[in-house]
Amino acid sequence: MKTYRKELWFEVPARRAFINITPDVQQCIDKSGITEGLVLVNAMHITASVFINDDESGLHHDYEKWLEKLAPHEPVSQYRHNVGEDNADAHMKRQIMGRESVIAITDGKLDFGTWERIFYGEFDGRRKKRVLVKIIGE
Ligand code: ZN
Repeated sequence: MKTYRKELWFEVPARRAFINITPDVQQCIDKSGITEGLVLVNAMHITASVFINDDESGLHHDYEKWLEKLAPHEPVSQYRHNVGEDNADAHMKRQIMGRESVIAITDGKLDFGTWERIFYGEFDGRRKKRVLVKIIGE
């Protein structure tokens, strides 16, 4: 069995963003030389997510509005976590959107369902953060 590990780094200039990282993950698979196996992609921070869905800007706008309804950023004083920081909403948004995705690799490619793409969800940006890509297979 072969293994491959890589960290992808991001520094999102805004507080929140969704970034399509599908090409980065496929590049890791290409470099690994693994053609049959599994790839795990996970955010290495508790205020960011990795998830799979459609690369459609309307949907991303809808996510943003929905997440703000569930866990509004303001007023920051509504959260007990926000003593000396202001990112309690980001922890909750991450919880809803998830920590990681696992995707099958078949014939050296991401074995997706229809319209599936991998996203990095940033909820407390403006600093360097990373995503782990771990591939196992042969
Ligand atoms: Zn925090």
